Amino acid sequence: MISVHHAREHNLKNIDVIIPRDKLTVISGVSGSGKSTLAFDLIFGEGQRRYLESLNAYARQFVQPASRPDVDAIYGIPPAVAIEQRTSRGGRKSTVATLTEIYHYLRLMFVKLATQYCPSCDLPIEPQTEAAIVARLQKDFRGKEVTVLSPMVVARKGIYRELAQWAADRGFTELRVDGQYQPTADWPKLDRYKEHDIELPLATVKVGPSQVQALQQALHQALELGNGVVIIAPASKAKERLFSTQRACPGCGCGFPELDPRLFSYNSKHGWCTGCFGTGLTLKGFDEEQTGEESGWQPEDDGIETVCKKCDGQRLNPTALSVRFRDKTIAELAALPVDDAEKWFGKLKLNTSEQAIARDLLSEMHNRLHFLQKVGLNYLTLDRAAPTLSGGEAQRIRLAAQLGSSLQGVCYVLDEPTIGLHTRDNRKLLETLRELQQQGNTVLVVEHDEDTMREADHIIDIGPRAGVNGGTVVGEGSVAKLIKNKQSLTGQMLAKPLRHPMPGLRNSEMRNLWDKESLDLHGATQNNLNNIDVAIPLHQLVAITGVSGSGKSTLVRGVLYPNLKTVVSGKRKTNTSWQGVESIEGWQSIDRILEVDQTPIGKTPRSCPATYIGIWDAIRKLFAGTVDARLRGYTPARFSFNAGDGRCDACGGNGMQKIEMNFLPDVRVPCDVCQGWRFNDETLSVKYKGKHIGDVLAMNIDEAAEFFKPISKVHHALCLLQDVGLGYLTLGQQSPTLSGGEAQRIKLVAELAKARMTPEDAKGKRFQHNLYVLDEPTVGLHMADVDKLLHVLHRLVDAGNSVLVIEHNLDVVAEADWIIDMGPEGGSGGGRVVAQGTPATVVKRKRSLTGRFLGEVFK
Ligand code: ADP
Ligand code: ADP
Ligand code: ZN
Repeated sequence: MISVHHAREHNLKNIDVIIPRDKLTVISGVSGSGKSTLAFDLIFGEGQRRYLESLNAYARQFVQPASRPDVDAIYGIPPAVAIEQRTSRGGRKSTVATLTEIYHYLRLMFVKLATQYCPSCDLPIEPQTEAAIVARLQKDFRGKEVTVLSPMVVARKGIYRELAQWAADRGFTELRVDGQYQPTADWPKLDRYKEHDIELPLATVKVGPSQVQALQQALHQALELGNGVVIIAPASKAKERLFSTQRACPGCGCGFPELDPRLFSYNSKHGWCTGCFGTGLTLKGFDEEQTGEESGWQPEDDGIETVCKKCDGQRLNPTALSVRFRDKTIAELAALPVDDAEKWFGKLKLNTSEQAIARDLLSEMHNRLHFLQKVGLNYLTLDRAAPTLSGGEAQRIRLAAQLGSSLQGVCYVLDEPTIGLHTRDNRKLLETLRELQQQGNTVLVVEHDEDTMREADHIIDIGPRAGVNGGTVVGEGSVAKLIKNKQSLTGQMLAKPLRHPMPGLRNSEMRNLWDKESLDLHGATQNNLNNIDVAIPLHQLVAITGVSGSGKSTLVRGVLYPNLKTVVSGKRKTNTSWQGVESIEGWQSIDRILEVDQTPIGKTPRSCPATYIGIWDAIRKLFAGTVDARLRGYTPARFSFNAGDGRCDACGGNGMQKIEMNFLPDVRVPCDVCQGWRFNDETLSVKYKGKHIGDVLAMNIDEAAEFFKPISKVHHALCLLQDVGLGYLTLGQQSPTLSGGEAQRIKLVAELAKARMTPEDAKGKRFQHNLYVLDEPTVGLHMADVDKLLHVLHRLVDAGNSVLVIEHNLDVVAEADWIIDMGPEGGSGGGRVVAQGTPATVVKRKRSLTGRFLGEVFK
């Protein structure tokens, strides 16, 4: 087992934890309780750090070792691999096929089995015959002395002692290296970081009638050794060549080198399309210098990508694209979705010699395609570029790649792998995690998903609450044990799931005010959308559901959001040039459209809950209004940590100072001038109800709500934060330390704080109508937090707004006023509306997968 002793990192309270080795363990707990700290900062961080320490000093200088976590000891830790949601590598030239190595095997298969055609005549390229070469020599070089050479090594790196030895053993006395003749006996050292050409000189012959036999003999040997290629050079002249008899087109006579895997690589100058350098996109402001073989160079991102006209997005040059296997180019095969590729290879008939050559390659590809299907990515095309994948998709691709690697004795750490997955596909993902474990690995998953918890061998529940109120182990063991544990919120939620519809929500009086308004999309065609019409009711909570790849994001974030953004903001007065859709109607009543995502709050790291929800100005005014402040002439500006005379000069109002350490990560310590209060002494001497402004920033929201009770605007906003379960955050907690889920809820609260609308307010006057768009807002949320999130969403709708969520979480779907279920499958098998209506209606739709699972929630 892995045992952690006295962990104190972040909010962990000096805890001891044991994680069984070679088992599937889930770490559960509310958002902010300390799950990631345990899984990533401690277990993964330590596994990684030990691995890095084992590297030599040279290698270490390129990697930033994580700083040592605050823990007494961790025993029994295996090498750790984190499978995260963001792909760190993955420029435009990474695709599903390259990330999973499928492309690597595809290239090898093409080298070994494909037929090359001439790009201009479309005739198969043939190896040249001895007779043809003799004829050419007799015609063009009669009377000249030529050397016949056989290419041994073409453009490879390394030292070729073995080759020299081999040649010497056969009585050859010299080799030609990069055009220079070199003796085989005293083999020169080659620059091991450069590519070299090495040729074996076989004979020097005078071309003429008397020497035909000697010539034929040398050619024969050269062709055999050089795999059909011979180089003819002027006798003993270094660096020159008359011609090389590459394979040639019988029509135009053009020569072609042997097929090489690099020909099919869009990371290599041998393969890439010269118009787009392998990106498949039209490039702007392109700098050729930067596009080295392995460079992660990317096109300028102006939001609009246009396909390269030269290769039509296929990324390869015409030579590469005229190599075909069973009449398909490598680009055509790569354009297939995983499912179709699996079928195509399944049906492939090979003769005996092909079988012998391709058996291993095919089985490697088959395995990987199979794993991609297992993790629910059957709809992705193999050539899909990494930057266009969602976080969940990218994570599951990495998972599939790990399954293929068949490593053993590794500790895999995963963060919510069920993100983006429909309930139906959860099962498959769980089997996959199980397989990984059964290969002899420890699998550690941070997860809120109930099915995953029920499948786990072991659960570690961290809590009981978030932040300072969390950081302890409240329960350990099986699901059954957790359910009996009264201390464990997770156990209690598992024992008593949410009931729907949640009681006491939704103001029916408000709802009747806006009956029947809807947003009507007509003829949506982006990505896989099948020229569909969709009506989205306004002033309601609408859930877009469907399996991964069915078209939910395309509909909402691809079509609806960008189009509405332009018309609603008034950037475009006419509504005629819609993108990816024929028309959208019914948007005129929307004042603002807003995507509420999990990115950090505010524009700077100094943003904090108090500034973001808009109570900080009011608090500064309170301080400026005190007698003390007025005597000193302090205005509200004095109480800003962003600018002005009030903040601490030493740390610029950060409260922290960064100490740069050579070779080690920067260390941040509390500012020694202001002790982390962020203000100077004069400012801090002003007190409001006995507290200075720094005290206020350090208060948590629960304390602050009590403290500011008489100030209704401030109090109201703080109560909203409490309502969504964020009472433990401090008012001044800096944006980068907030989790995605916390950030998202703060954004929602900021919206709610603005929307203080009662039915009385609403009746008479024109009010703000916002359309909020959320993509899987339950990511990172504990079941107990989902409950809180739902309250906020309902309240936003009650205030007259429209809320549109893409969601798999059935607790959210069950609470929706209206469901639009996409499908039936992912990719080309989806892109339609399978069912729509109230949850009660959708449950009855036989064709709707979502309906089927939703039925169980209502039981
Ligand atoms: P979970 O994964 O359960 O959501 P985390 O482990 O991310 O929780 O966080 C546990 C606590 O530690 C939270 O109060 C969070 O605000 C705090 N925390 C997380 N990361 C940092 C950090 N880099 N610096 C300071 N506090 C942090
Ligand atoms: P969902 O949100 O339901 O998971 P998406 O809208 O992301 O589904 O995807 C629908 C289809 O469109 C899938 O076949 C997906 O592979 C394809 N797709 C999505 N984004 C892109 C993109 N940027 N480029 C090409 N195809 C895409
Ligand atoms: Zn300071």
